[in-house]
Amino acid sequence: MKAIEVRDLRKSFDSGRIRALNGVNLEVDGGEFISIMGPSGSGKSTLLNMIGALDVPDSGTICVAGRDLSRERDLSRLRAEEIGFVFQLHNLIPNLTALENVEIPMFAVKHENMEERAMELLEYVDLADKAHRKPTELSGGERQRVAIARALANDPSIILADEPTGSLDSRTSQRVLRKLRELQEDEGVTLVVVTHEPDVAAMASRTIRILDGVIVDDGY
Ligand code: ADP
Ligand code: MG
Repeated sequence: MKAIEVRDLRKSFDSGRIRALNGVNLEVDGGEFISIMGPSGSGKSTLLNMIGALDVPDSGTICVAGRDLSRERDLSRLRAEEIGFVFQLHNLIPNLTALENVEIPMFAVKHENMEERAMELLEYVDLADKAHRKPTELSGGERQRVAIARALANDPSIILADEPTGSLDSRTSQRVLRKLRELQEDEGVTLVVVTHEPDVAAMASRTIRILDGVIVDDGY
């Protein structure tokens, strides 16, 4: 079973005036680490958002962990169970602590000992000592690591990261990326990272290039 299977995916915005994706086909094996590159506006985020069931395509099919998204009744549950998201601007909730932010996705799945588990995840990203800080009291790299811990809250099989290091300096960016790669190597998580940075892309085993809503290169 493929971790991700995308067939002839199309998506337009503004009543068809903007064609963001024009027939994308993509297969990703379980445990693979792929990077997606391409100029601004080429459709990278649109593709990632649809794989992550945050948006719906005009046509085409998407299967995630063997589940056809168009046939799922409860997409938010599927998202909570299978997918972890890391965005460029962390999207942490400002008035909650790091620990509380990590707990949020757990409510959708209902774990026992949520706080304990959230603390373990913060330990994993080396932030246990900052568990009770609010996002504004953390550095950019620390926020991004909280976002990674949050993405891991429900043990997702797939992590989708949209320019996760786009707002960080290169040293911090390396650190965040190493954490993501560690997950892929140690836990077998499937990792899809959208990036502008060639050194980030170089960490992946496969790089996909997208231009004007089509994949123009797919290589190992
Ligand atoms: P990338 O992530 O590669 O920079 P996007 O996927 O964000 O590109 O955008 C692809 C195209 O679709 C762009 O022309 C963008 O302006 C447009 N687009 C993306 N999301 C929306 C939206 N919600 N409404 C209208 N246009 C959008
Ligand atoms: Mg984008």
